[in-house]
Amino acid sequence: MESNTYIAPAPQKIPKVAFASLGCPKALTDSELILTQLRAEGYETSKTFAGADLVIVNTCGFIDDAVKESLDTIGEALAENGKVIVTGCLGAKGSDGNADAGSLVREMHPSVLAVTGPHATQEVMDAVHTHVPKPHDPFVDLVPAYGIKLTPKHYAYLKISEGCNHRCSFCIIPSMRGDLVSRPIGDVLNEARALFESGVKELLVISQDTSAYGVDVKYRTGFWDGKPVKTRMFDLVAKLGELAKAHGAWVRLHYVYPYPHVDEVLPLMAEGLILPYLDVPLQHAHPDVLKRMKRPANGEKNMERIARWRETCPDIVIRSTFIAGFPGETEAEFQYLLDFMQEARIDRAGCFAYSPVDGATANALEGALPDEVREERRARFMAIAEQVSVEKLRSRIGATMQVLVDSAPALGRKGGVGRSYADAPEIDGTVRLLPPQKASKTLKVGEFTKAKIVAAEGHDLIAMPV
Ligand code: SF4
Repeated sequence: MESNTYIAPAPQKIPKVAFASLGCPKALTDSELILTQLRAEGYETSKTFAGADLVIVNTCGFIDDAVKESLDTIGEALAENGKVIVTGCLGAKGSDGNADAGSLVREMHPSVLAVTGPHATQEVMDAVHTHVPKPHDPFVDLVPAYGIKLTPKHYAYLKISEGCNHRCSFCIIPSMRGDLVSRPIGDVLNEARALFESGVKELLVISQDTSAYGVDVKYRTGFWDGKPVKTRMFDLVAKLGELAKAHGAWVRLHYVYPYPHVDEVLPLMAEGLILPYLDVPLQHAHPDVLKRMKRPANGEKNMERIARWRETCPDIVIRSTFIAGFPGETEAEFQYLLDFMQEARIDRAGCFAYSPVDGATANALEGALPDEVREERRARFMAIAEQVSVEKLRSRIGATMQVLVDSAPALGRKGGVGRSYADAPEIDGTVRLLPPQKASKTLKVGEFTKAKIVAAEGHDLIAMPV
């Protein structure tokens, strides 16, 4: 698998600035400084006012003729372009009866965007940035428009919020990262679009609590592409699904707590807009243990909810993690968890033996269990989880699945490795691809192939590309 790959940004339109330089040699050197800065930041220059995104007029205010010439040039630039920034000596002048710098220009041409005096490169640049944002230049800027990605270029993580409003007793994340802060929906969708445009084929939505997206801003209405969109999990996921569809890509949801409103997302999975895959960290099943853990959605009837999800979207794959041997966990409570696992048949289940974290409130709970008990319970849980996983994987033999190729040396002539919708990168199994039988069939990293499942081995499937 490729890793730590830098993704080249999608091509973008380079903004152009036209420049009129009037006056003496001192004004000329000011013009040169501004032009140098514009070029250093990646702006291009335009020979005509009409062909530019913005015009800068460096003026002279020394004698009446120079003032007239400067005002006329500003008028011309406004007529031909409309977006004009004025700098130079005339920009420092007040009008008759108004000593304020810039008032002369503003009275004659009220629609200019900004007026500065001479030697004001930084102020001019600030005004340029406000009206024609700086282009991204990968040779100058350290960070591409969508940030640095350490994932292979065909998949990427999209963080939608930071922090968490819950206070699970075994966790110290909120004390380190604070309460939930949702990113503005417009920013999240812009980042998603930039990622898809750069060739990302799988977007993994992450946060500490994806279901809570927008709670902190009371689901405020944001804007994207000039249209209102609510800062809410369903609205975000629906838009991501539309974007993904347009780019032939996948969207996968992680860290979703089983609140009732998550049910609304299931039809989007059934329609194929987002992957029928939910990563739901349940941690336990017994209501008393969940209460001691102070888990979000601990009052929800998870078994019924999962059954309903499967009714709406029979293909859904559920991944979850659990903790065995939490302080005070009785054998009966643990058995309840095993029964839940048997019945819920969580497709991808992981289990940790409880281990105290410095600073977590669970450390003060009574009934800490000896290490051997925690470990033994973890092993009993995993035996069931593995049995479920094996049965689920075997049931796929004979099916043809869409597989995203993660690795394919020599164009896949010796086979490769990929993942189906049921496998998140790094945490789930893979689909091991056999060398294609047809000589014309190739496999390429970051592209999809259909593959017929021929066997299951451990957590992986083995498949023949077709
Ligand atoms: S474990 Fe609980 S407190 Fe910690 S981040 Fe997750 S939901 Fe928040």
